[in-house]
Amino acid sequence: MEEKTGEGGLVITKLDDLLNWARLTALWPMGFGLACCAIEMMGAYSSGYDIDRFGVIPRASPRQSDVMIVAGTVTFKMADRVRRLYEQMPEPRYVISMGSCSNCGGPYWEHGYHVVKGVDRIIPVDVYVPGCPPRPEALIGGFLKLQEIIRKETIRAPRAVQALMAKRQLSKEQEAALRV
Ligand code: SF4
Repeated sequence: MEEKTGEGGLVITKLDDLLNWARLTALWPMGFGLACCAIEMMGAYSSGYDIDRFGVIPRASPRQSDVMIVAGTVTFKMADRVRRLYEQMPEPRYVISMGSCSNCGGPYWEHGYHVVKGVDRIIPVDVYVPGCPPRPEALIGGFLKLQEIIRKETIRAPRAVQALMAKRQLSKEQEAALRV
């Protein structure tokens, strides 16, 4: 049995660093997919890629998820559902747009009357993963990029407040433009 000496370990760090470390090493994506890109996303979850080692574990409910991977074609019919699922996720929440369809409409860009030309028209996107479809390695790259973003966050300026301020700023600018 180990002898108790009373000399406990001491770690000194910033609260921001501690929170960011906890968040970026436990990213829980919501388990849903929209089209062919979702097959590659499922491939990334398989044992061959072992994405769990990054702390990425899919969850079955938006209320327990902090990452939404939009994997596939966002049709106008699905847009409302995607937005609703996003709104059910608690803050801080992040979005990875996976594949050309979700990034910009993909092969449906020109003639796809039924396709939203980029999911960022309905929800804010943090990371775009290019490709049609992107390989699982590309999605893992997207997660690493998201981890870099989270590493720089600070609780003094939460993302939700920043987004609100940017929206207010935008509407003020639009108002000023209308007055000219
Ligand atoms: S980007 Fe390509 S692979 Fe992905 S959903 Fe669109 S058509 Fe399918």
